[in-house]
Amino acid sequence: MPPTPPPVLPPVSTHRPVVTRFAPSPTGWLHKGHAWSAWLNATYAASRGGRFLLRIEDIDPTRRKPEHVAGIVEDLAWLGLRWETPVRRQGEHMDDYARALDRLRTDGLLYPCFCTRAEIAAEIARAGAAPHGPEGPLYPGTCRRLDAAERQARVEAGQPFAWRLDVAAAVARTGELHWHDARAGNIRADPAALGDVVLARKETPASYHLCVTVDDALQGVTDVIRGEDLFHATHIHRLLQAVLGLPTPAYHHHGMLTDAGGQRLAKRHGAEALRELRARGVTPAEVIAGFDTATMHPTID
Ligand code: GLU
Repeated sequence: MPPTPPPVLPPVSTHRPVVTRFAPSPTGWLHKGHAWSAWLNATYAASRGGRFLLRIEDIDPTRRKPEHVAGIVEDLAWLGLRWETPVRRQGEHMDDYARALDRLRTDGLLYPCFCTRAEIAAEIARAGAAPHGPEGPLYPGTCRRLDAAERQARVEAGQPFAWRLDVAAAVARTGELHWHDARAGNIRADPAALGDVVLARKETPASYHLCVTVDDALQGVTDVIRGEDLFHATHIHRLLQAVLGLPTPAYHHHGMLTDAGGQRLAKRHGAEALRELRARGVTPAEVIAGFDTATMHPTID
């Protein structure tokens, strides 16, 4: 039998006003991998007469550092990039995320999860072959199975909890979903691959998945250009867009820069920071000349 053709997606106008964004978390210094991503966003918007935004993803009070916010601005300006102001700082917009969370809760798509990390690990070990996602073993759904009375009793007893997305319930509501990636093509959303993700915790009342989805819509982002390490997250973002009634941008998950040994540039692997390059006399033009512009998809839309 011939393969089923993918559903036809609405044509994307080449004349749509393009809005891109670079959205770093201020938890470390930017390295060349960040510069590459920011540069792709800025040059793509510029090539389409569009707008380029900078967004600071600083919802985690335990990891964000003011010096890294200042560092992001300084390093991108040094590279020669310009973005629209004001810069959106997620930490100043917790109300927006709380509203989205309320809506999901009212729609019965969230449940409180009282499990500690240790309990989740023990449950996974007990289950033997626990299903694995791209980021490790999936949450086994323990608290999804609690009944209403038990949930209420635990909340009233003051047990700390996180809000998890009931992915099966959300998918049952939305049906099959798709999104488009400039390199990978038409993708059928597979949000179950990440399991019932956490959307809010006591100490951080909104998660990356929730904030990024809400903000891309609020800011009118048309093209999300980011590293392919976030490819799988898009399955969840697509689901959140559907249940929150938000538009779906076009996606371009670009390859990751690697060091001479083939290791992806990352803060945790000690990638040299842009400010260190600068200090040893490397110029912005040299940094940009090092990017392989051929990997920028020529027909991103
Ligand atoms: N804040 C995320 C990060 O620094 C990126 C968010 C995004 O581009 O969607 O990894």
